[in-house]
Amino acid sequence: MIFKVFAAQELGRLFELLAVNMIVGPVKKGGAADGRVLYDFAPVYDLADLCLDFDQTIHSAKKYLLPYVEETCSFKLEEVGWEKEVDYGGNQPLVLFGLHACDINALNKLDKVLLAQPYPNQFYGAKRAGIFIVGHSCQPTPACFCHAMGTDSVLHGCDLFLTPLGDDYFVEIMSSRAFHILENLNLREPGRDDHRRFQGVVEQRKSLFTAEVDTSDLTKILDMEFDSAVWAQWGDRCLSCGTCAQVCPTCYCYGVEEVVAMDMKGADKFRQLYSCNLLDFAQVAGGHNFRPESRSRLKYRYYHKHRGFVEAFEEALCVGCGRCGTNCLADITVPEVIASVRRGEVDDV
Ligand code: SF4
Ligand code: SF4
Repeated sequence: MIFKVFAAQELGRLFELLAVNMIVGPVKKGGAADGRVLYDFAPVYDLADLCLDFDQTIHSAKKYLLPYVEETCSFKLEEVGWEKEVDYGGNQPLVLFGLHACDINALNKLDKVLLAQPYPNQFYGAKRAGIFIVGHSCQPTPACFCHAMGTDSVLHGCDLFLTPLGDDYFVEIMSSRAFHILENLNLREPGRDDHRRFQGVVEQRKSLFTAEVDTSDLTKILDMEFDSAVWAQWGDRCLSCGTCAQVCPTCYCYGVEEVVAMDMKGADKFRQLYSCNLLDFAQVAGGHNFRPESRSRLKYRYYHKHRGFVEAFEEALCVGCGRCGTNCLADITVPEVIASVRRGEVDDV
């Protein structure tokens, strides 16, 4: 990795250089009932609209690689027979500007599943190949626990990562294309003072985390607590709304729907992201539902993220962004669920 420093006023130049492609970044999206400013990722045409001091976006940037609804193919009956059209997307390069470490690490986790052989998701792969990512450091919210999941810093998966140091930016360069773009700025080598300032920012950020998750031996504890009453208590509280999966940067489960034309001479097939907490998630042909109760659906959501995925990839399918808890109408949060499983009981539910 290469480290450089540039003056903060040069950020506009970087934005201009990247604006030859569509830039998507955090922008204001109104306010919450409790007065918080809400942010979300959206196309940005002017640096002034880019809110790099955002705390958390409602959705992650996942939606640009894994849209909530995506047409996967269409069929038409022609004279010669059935013709199929597939557009993988990804024709338009995209710059994701201002992603926090958790969201970059979330894409790294999705890569492990969706780019894996022998059945890579070509729709995801086509878009991923055309994406340039500018990471940006953050200030933790009370809901964040990325430090506990080991996803609070980035070693790969983005092109460059910016950390503001007052009048300067400390930049970690992680790709040759980022290096060549940054050559157009007045870069300088970081000195000892810059290193100290950078470490000061890192330490100050660490001190702001308040949410904790103890992940030690968690897979074993989950195995032991599979029949714990805790799951019923949390599960009965769950409204099965599916919001947690929709805002989660690492959820990738989907359903497929085919819409057949009225004349039966064509059809469009769609993939739609789905949530394992929805009532019919485990319903199969014939009507049998393997998980008819919210308690079993909620439990399996946790077992997929913190048990099965760890076994397959040696890491959890959770980056500790806290979005699921922030947006859950039933106040179900990962730190509280995991703490209660460890204790073997639920407080105040
Ligand atoms: S957001 Fe909360 S209530 Fe809705 S499905 Fe997820 S855990 Fe259940
Ligand atoms: S499970 Fe919750 S905290 Fe973990 S990555 Fe998904 S939304 Fe973020």
